[in-house]
Amino acid sequence: MKRIILFGAPGSGKGTQAEKIEREFSYMKISTGDLIRAEVNKKSVIGEKIKEFNVKGLLVPDEIIVEMVKKRVSAEDMTEGYILDGFPRTLDQVKGLTSVPVDEEIAIFLKVVDEDIVVKRILSRVSCENCGEIYNTVTQLPNKANICNRCGSELSRRSDDTEEIIKKRIIVYRDETLPVINYYRGKGNLHELDASGDINKVWKEIRELVR
Ligand code: AMP
Repeated sequence: MKRIILFGAPGSGKGTQAEKIEREFSYMKISTGDLIRAEVNKKSVIGEKIKEFNVKGLLVPDEIIVEMVKKRVSAEDMTEGYILDGFPRTLDQVKGLTSVPVDEEIAIFLKVVDEDIVVKRILSRVSCENCGEIYNTVTQLPNKANICNRCGSELSRRSDDTEEIIKKRIIVYRDETLPVINYYRGKGNLHELDASGDINKVWKEIRELVR
């Protein structure tokens, strides 16, 4: 079992690259943001509990997200491995993840130094609520206006993709998740890529690391 972890600020391209890895290799993408949005939309008991954090751009409590991830990685379709998009985001989540053994782990940091780039990317992002496919109204349009190429559902903007909430999410990323990235860097197995430019250039580098 292989585990690929994608780190990076909101808007650094984790979701887009996770999709590409899932399509090319037999690893399953686990986006904790998607898992959370699905629970919130379903209005499940957990969804109601975590909604407040999610809409404000705050992290949902560690114990809830760790449970969700553990349940997902133990599903039957996880045979070859999985890609984590958006997890772990705190040092306590790292502890939770460490208790799930794998044969190989690849950690990749999608680095974007210029904050304006990520804010711009997020403000022009639209995605499919049904399958999670991500588009960009400037650089990556769907074939048919506002319709997902992959599943035909309608595209929409995420409710937390407003300028105010993005700023909050970036602060949370700096405070909570940079220490996690530093921890992986300290372990000596972090691959750091410049993710400020072309998506396909980043993808070529990731493909070499993953294969
Ligand atoms: P994302 O789709 O990765 O940008 O995540 C969107 C939102 O989901 C975040 O702002 C958090 O509210 C929540 N979220 C996603 N992943 C996590 C996580 N690992 N821990 C806590 N909250 C998370």
